[in-house]
Amino acid sequence: MLNIVIFGPPGSGKGTQSKLIAEKYQLVHLSTGDMLRAEIARGTEVGKQVDKLISNGNFAPDDIIIDMINHEINAHKQNCNGFIFDGFPRTVAQAKALDVLLAEHDKKLTLMLDLHVEENVLIERLLKRGLTSGRADDNLEVIKKRLEIHKEKSLPVLNYYKNTGRYVSVPNSSTIEENFEHIVHLIEFSICGF
Ligand code: ADP
Repeated sequence: MLNIVIFGPPGSGKGTQSKLIAEKYQLVHLSTGDMLRAEIARGTEVGKQVDKLISNGNFAPDDIIIDMINHEINAHKQNCNGFIFDGFPRTVAQAKALDVLLAEHDKKLTLMLDLHVEENVLIERLLKRGLTSGRADDNLEVIKKRLEIHKEKSLPVLNYYKNTGRYVSVPNSSTIEENFEHIVHLIEFSICGF
């Protein structure tokens, strides 16, 4: 079983790379951003609670996120090669909760991939995406806020994974394909050591 966290600032390509990884290794792709947007679109209680927070670029509450992930792990625990967690964990509380949830199923996190992209490239990509994504948070003001919040909150999460030996840094690449190739090498290395 392969359980992977993909981490990085907004616009770093987490979603794009997650889809490719999920396809190659037959993993279940869990994107907390997608799940939250689906809750908002369905007008659920959770959707109502998080709508404003997300539109303003703030994080959703940890308990809501952890409940959603718990639910999805349980829903897919049979017959699954593992999970790729996209946009989760974003806080140390979430990271610790993930370890507990996996341990409840006698599973462990294989590795955490940390994506690096320069800030001007991130802003450019997100503004471009905003033209077609219809996302309330893909506008310059909220993009800048999301990047600030990421910077402010990411260090403790990175340190948590560095201290527990599962952190892997993914070098910045110019194309999706090159980035994916790097990631596959890193995954293969973590599985078989070469
Ligand atoms: P991006 O990485 O581009 O910000 P996502 O789709 O991963 O896009 O997340 C969109 C928004 O959803 C975030 O800005 C945040 O408000 C909320 N969100 C997603 N995942 C989490 C999480 N794990 N914890 C808290 N909030 C989250």
